[in-house]
Amino acid sequence: MLQVVWFKRDLRWQDHAPLSHAAKHGAVLPLWVDEPQAWAQSDASPRHRAFALGCVRALADWVNVHGGQLYTPRGGMLDVLANIKARFGQFTLLSHEETGNAWSYARDRAVARWCADAGVPWQEFPNNAVVRRLATRDRWSALWDTRMKTPPRAAPDDVRFANMTWPAAWMTDDRDGSCGAAASLQRAAQSHLSSAHELLNSFLQQRGQHYRVQMSSPLTADTACSRISEHLAWGSISIRECAHAVWARRTELLALPLEQRPAGFLQSLKSFEGRLHWHCHFIQKLESEPEIEWRNVHRGFDDVRNEGALAPQEQARLDAWVSGHTGYPFVDACMRSLNATGWINFRMRAMLMSFASYQLWLHWRQTGLHLARQFTDYEPGIHWSQCQMQSGVTGINTLRIYNPVKQGLDQDPTGEFVRRWVPELADVPQAVIHTPWLVGVPGYSPPIVDLKQSTQAAKDVMYVRKGQPEVKAQAQAVYQKHGSRNPAREGRIKTVRKVPSSPQMTLEF
Ligand SMILES: Cc1cc2nc3c(=O)[nH]c(=O)nc-3n(C[C@H](O)[C@H](O)[C@H](O)COP(=O)(O)OP(=O)(O)OC[C@H]3O[C@@H](n4cnc5c(N)ncnc54)[C@H](O)[C@@H]3O)c2cc1C
Repeated sequence: MLQVVWFKRDLRWQDHAPLSHAAKHGAVLPLWVDEPQAWAQSDASPRHRAFALGCVRALADWVNVHGGQLYTPRGGMLDVLANIKARFGQFTLLSHEETGNAWSYARDRAVARWCADAGVPWQEFPNNAVVRRLATRDRWSALWDTRMKTPPRAAPDDVRFANMTWPAAWMTDDRDGSCGAAASLQRAAQSHLSSAHELLNSFLQQRGQHYRVQMSSPLTADTACSRISEHLAWGSISIRECAHAVWARRTELLALPLEQRPAGFLQSLKSFEGRLHWHCHFIQKLESEPEIEWRNVHRGFDDVRNEGALAPQEQARLDAWVSGHTGYPFVDACMRSLNATGWINFRMRAMLMSFASYQLWLHWRQTGLHLARQFTDYEPGIHWSQCQMQSGVTGINTLRIYNPVKQGLDQDPTGEFVRRWVPELADVPQAVIHTPWLVGVPGYSPPIVDLKQSTQAAKDVMYVRKGQPEVKAQAQAVYQKHGSRNPAREGRIKTVRKVPSSPQMTLEF
């Protein structure tokens, strides 16, 4: 029977269980659907589509080289499935499981219903360590090991592609301008020039040596961090490939005589590996509770910030934050840099979110949507969990209110990053680069909120709320559902990682 392999946010051919499985069971029809509704969602942006199309192009090339043609219709998934059935008769649908936004979740449920009605079997395979219908978090960390320790699947070399050519009108392309500015397309192309594996390799061999100490400053993070997130988010590399590459590199370094080991590299690898755990740990939260996308994990914080229509002052604060005109140089530089490039490092993401949620007292959903559209690596499970965490509404994480002046002094002491992204401050002396209001700079707005007062006001509300007995009690339930049982891995990493154990759970992956 025809095997239709539906590529979603798993745009690769290696370590791809549905493709490998399909190759063993019949002629393969590779499918990627350009779904206008997906791109019209409030968390989607042309930047995402441009990156995805770069991955699709690479996948289409691979399929071509192996004698097939990637089918890339534009439209709704149900129509596409109906067309395939009308044209080719019965088939099996194969895909990875997706933990996506509410729209993709609803789309998948509609696909499941269509398949049931049409008698089309749909086989879904895990894409990472996220578990469908997870009963308890207790053994989740061991499951990560189980799934990761199996070697990544090689790209199948025996695929028999279904022999068919598609009318050009059925295929999407990116010449219709819907990807947005040419610049973002160019960036996507550049990113694919240095493919996911080259990027990871350069990090593990060289760039990552000082990752642990250089990840926090935006001056060093863009080269010291792996920058693999965009590829993980769109699936051009799998998390298991990353894990195996880290372990191989660790073995290589350990084999070197002590005096030849590049200083700090092993510690950096440990930090990086911890973050590969976080990746799945956070996505698991959305898988277990899809409402995390729009609703507080801890309902006891529901009324602390305004979720409804914004008052004019709130709108003004949101606009200033979004465009990088808050009057706080480091916040503005980080936001402008993110808006221009599509990436910023973790600490600066946390600071941007914290500043919006505490000092500007805006609801995380509105600010999170802006960040989602800007991040090329937008991954709903990580994103919404982090937005909530940095806004203090999970009930199980320590409140962390960043001081943007202190962050600026710590992470950009000379003001180099600020001057790069906020040209209005180019000539401001170093002594006041993070506090320009002390001297007044024509052309740069004064702070939109008073730092001390707004921070104190936020603390007053949050600590009182967190201390209420019913809020504390409910936090226990949140912990049971989402809390890490292994903080050394999924929280702060302090202990040395043990060699993966061999739990009994086995899942095809
Ligand atoms: C408010 C906020 C929103 C975020 N939204 C996203 C998002 O949409 N997509 C996304 O991939 N990351 C998100 N992150 C997490 C993190 O900032 C990025 O994963 C990281 O900056 C990506 O760069 P990198 O690949 O060089 O990371 P590295 O530091 O090299 O880490 C390697 C990989 O580990 C994972 N990882 C790293 N940090 C975290 C983390 N804190 N939580 C979960 N996984 C992590 C990512 O997959 C990353 O690619 C968010 C963080 C915050 C504070």
